[in-house]
Amino acid sequence: MNILFAASEAFPFIKTGGLGDVVHSLPLALNRLGHDVRLVLPAYRDVLASVDALVELGFWDLPGASVTHRVRVLQAHHEGLADYLYLIDVPSLFDRAGNPYVHSDGFNWPDNAERFTVFSRAVAQMAKGIPGTDWHPDVVHCHDWQTGLVPAFLSMFHPRPKTVFTIHNLAYDGHFSHDDFTRLALPPEWWSPEYVEFYGGFSMLKAGMVFADHVTTVSPTYAREICTPEFGYRFEGVLQSLGDKLSGILNGIDLDIWNPASDEHLKQTYQADQPWCKAKLANKNALLKKAGLVSGKAPLLGFIGRLVEQKGVDLIAEMLPALFKTTDAVMIILGSGHMSYETELVTLAEKYPTRLHVHIGYSEDLAHQIEAGCDLFVMPSRFEPCGLNQMYSLRYGTPPVVNFTGGLADTVTDASTMALTEKTANGFVFHDVNADALLAAIRRALSIYGKPAQWQSLCETAMRQELGWENSAKKYQALYKK
Ligand code: ADP
Repeated sequence: MNILFAASEAFPFIKTGGLGDVVHSLPLALNRLGHDVRLVLPAYRDVLASVDALVELGFWDLPGASVTHRVRVLQAHHEGLADYLYLIDVPSLFDRAGNPYVHSDGFNWPDNAERFTVFSRAVAQMAKGIPGTDWHPDVVHCHDWQTGLVPAFLSMFHPRPKTVFTIHNLAYDGHFSHDDFTRLALPPEWWSPEYVEFYGGFSMLKAGMVFADHVTTVSPTYAREICTPEFGYRFEGVLQSLGDKLSGILNGIDLDIWNPASDEHLKQTYQADQPWCKAKLANKNALLKKAGLVSGKAPLLGFIGRLVEQKGVDLIAEMLPALFKTTDAVMIILGSGHMSYETELVTLAEKYPTRLHVHIGYSEDLAHQIEAGCDLFVMPSRFEPCGLNQMYSLRYGTPPVVNFTGGLADTVTDASTMALTEKTANGFVFHDVNADALLAAIRRALSIYGKPAQWQSLCETAMRQELGWENSAKKYQALYKK
């Protein structure tokens, strides 16, 4: 099949979270199944700088917010991709440095509605035909609110390819005003609760849900959770009404990029079927040294992620003083996000300089070293559509401590007595989202950490878990065929 992936970010060009990883690794997995998968992204400045062999395919004039934009379609090459990469080049909208969604002051780009409407219009045009090629997609697979209008625009074309819309995180819904709706020249009949209108404005995420032929989200548990008021962000009614049109397919991880046996970021590589404890310890010591923490036998905990409420950063900050008081554990945190969380964590690190290292920023290098060098990975997310970091930590033999939600519930098996005996345990799961429950789960983990044989067996179960894309890519394939 010919499949066009449309997204607003993709590793290795530009990535702010799990979406970027998925948009990179799922096309590769589908390609291995024999499909021709092509990716289209906005031509952000960083993307243009990281590709070569750019070819100009053609131009369209497409409506933006009360203006018409000259849209250039580029074809690019990158050795990390299986097939073609297309770029939608509108310099006034995308030729900007840094984050694709927010300004350096942390606020959304004020013209985001226009940026992603024009991008979506261009993707819909591509589905009709790409200048200079006779390639036509059978399926257009769109991701998150930034591409939510693609299925909507495509619904006006006959014939048209089928559309799949994947929700990676319901908390970001691309909600804009009626003024935006009018200025963007969207069809007036869409302004209705049945279509894109949503609580006084309109939502591009809702457009994807309503107009796509099928909607997926990134884990089976999250697919169920988002149909309830607790997790539904007010979309639960729309999502319930989708019935069989909504399903959950668990993300996989890229087994080449996240592979402790060949990871170039590590001091020493290792794998489950060879003696690995010494190599993991060498990574731990290198990480402790890099972080300026004292090396020793103390268990090392790690966290990587966006510093936002979703990730339960406040729970970590709240429980750390008690953890430091009652155990010898140390912790390394890598992330960036809300200023208040950044400040809180940095202040804690100043208070406990020998126990806590906080790195504010984004670092692929350090992320790999934390996954490998830590003993435990802490991920107390309040909700987690799928979560990739717990899967990376499993693969690196660093058992995760997680809240029982979304993809965390689907990938982590708690170290209960029975699961330990049956050798199915791969981490630690808690059920109440508060600092005490998190601390209790970490304490439980540390008590098993104190029993080396049991700990080693738990880590090996984690390392051997099937986490690649093969199974899930087959599920997407079956869906496309349907
Ligand atoms: P989300 O998509 O909600 O941010 P995921 O766990 O699904 O969370 O994916 C996060 C991805 O982003 C992972 O690949 C993770 O390693 C990466 N990541 C997040 N923050 C950082 C950071 N500060 N430095 C390096 N990588 C990061």
